[in-house]
Amino acid sequence: MHRLAELDRRFLWHPFTQMRDWLRREPIVLVEGQGTVVRDVHGREYLDANSSIWTNLHGHNHPQLNAAVREQLKKIAHTSALGLANEPASLLAERLVEMTNPGQQANASEASARSATGSHLLRKVFFSDDGSTAMEVALKLAYEFARRSRRSNKPKFLSLENAYHGDTVGAVALGHIDLFHQRYRGLVFKTDKVMSPYCYRCRFNRAVPERADARDYRKCHWECLEVFERKLKIQRRKGNAYAAFVFEPLVQGAAGMIAQPSGWLKEATGIAREHGALLLADEVMTGFGRTGTAALRQESAPQTKTSHPKGSGSTHRAEQRRDTPFLLACQRENVQPDFVALAKGLTGGYLPMAATLTTQKIFDAFLGKYEEFKTFFHGHSFTGNQLGAAVALSNLKLLETPNSSNARRVLETTLTAELKRLWARSKVGDIRQVGLCVGVELVKSWRTREPFSLRERAGIRVCEAMSRRGVLTRPIGNVVVLMPPYCSTKAQVQKMVSAMDEAIAEVL
Ligand SMILES: *Cc1c(COP(=O)(O)O)cnc(C)c1O
Repeated sequence: MHRLAELDRRFLWHPFTQMRDWLRREPIVLVEGQGTVVRDVHGREYLDANSSIWTNLHGHNHPQLNAAVREQLKKIAHTSALGLANEPASLLAERLVEMTNPGQQANASEASARSATGSHLLRKVFFSDDGSTAMEVALKLAYEFARRSRRSNKPKFLSLENAYHGDTVGAVALGHIDLFHQRYRGLVFKTDKVMSPYCYRCRFNRAVPERADARDYRKCHWECLEVFERKLKIQRRKGNAYAAFVFEPLVQGAAGMIAQPSGWLKEATGIAREHGALLLADEVMTGFGRTGTAALRQESAPQTKTSHPKGSGSTHRAEQRRDTPFLLACQRENVQPDFVALAKGLTGGYLPMAATLTTQKIFDAFLGKYEEFKTFFHGHSFTGNQLGAAVALSNLKLLETPNSSNARRVLETTLTAELKRLWARSKVGDIRQVGLCVGVELVKSWRTREPFSLRERAGIRVCEAMSRRGVLTRPIGNVVVLMPPYCSTKAQVQKMVSAMDEAIAEVL
């Protein structure tokens, strides 16, 4: 066994890992990478098929990102944001505001940001370190805002079934994956959950299984939206409307790549607003072009039995400029949230850094005389880190090049084309692709949708067999994830899908 592998086994405790299983074999120790390829201590090469847990965008060892780090290092690595400003953080905040309000003037005046037409703009950026802390910031802001605006003394939050918003205690409170969250119930505050649209396993979907994404052949009347609306109505009748509806837009990642049918997000967020909730979008995984670049077609807007008022409340948006691809999932359904949490892809997967964006109105609620103590009492040692901000700026520059958006478009169609062959496997129940994220749900038999029990470790075994074929990814229960870096070539995507195909044949 390699010395580094031995040291790891002796001293490390790995996240979300049963360490008894871990200690049974030699871990892969990665030392280098280039593009989609990573290399271990023995010189063996692998494809990074989940972009190093959803963080990497342009590939490893990218010359421009490397240069950004080097240039910044010549100046300074870190200074505190407590009481001090810095160059890359200021520039990055401006870029993030531009990116999240496409077609709008980032430099619009404060007065216009306070006006009726400008109040939806995301104007203020609070930096932190990772997805969990970005969510903590949004949560605390929404909580305080609800109290200060006298909307509620005991603000309550609504999030989706199977939601995952991070591992710190506040973020855990917002989550609803029983396996991760139930054991900490005694430690966290209570939040409400409501059904999310999981078409493949939806109790309202009357369609018999087909060899296609369940969203495309579902038979329902959007009952999920009726359930959703009822939940918000009941809470409002109690005189304590939800402070915020917290959601992952378009696809719930850690829930198992649960993809929302087109139109759901627009409708659900419209209903939430109508019932007094602010919108808190967790774009930690979906941000930065991960869910695809084009606007979703609007023809497929939901028709429910009790027709919902359409597009209520949420949007004033200038026409999207043709040449700027969408970078947020929310933008694809023309939804304008009050809070957006960004992390994973913010630095292109280079450094831990996160941002929470919000509106002028929320910001204003924290203004006052010093002794009123309306200050937002929150901050981390590395808030606004200069190295991280410098590489994030370079990452955004890359994302906005025509080359990058073309590469993403090509990668999206390549994935769609390659994934088709997996339908030939009877153990594949559903294939959900949203832009550049894919979840393949493994089942005992596609005709019955019968799931493997977690004990059978179907997802883990398939991923292990993929790793033996030189493709690295991690499962979520019975769902195998593919989330390639944007620079992945067609041949690399083919190899990822073949490895999965063969692995399923081998172990199931
Ligand atoms: C990963 C993730 C988080 C947590 O981010 P960390 O950086 O791991 O703290 C939160 N929300 C979503 C949607 C995520 O995918």
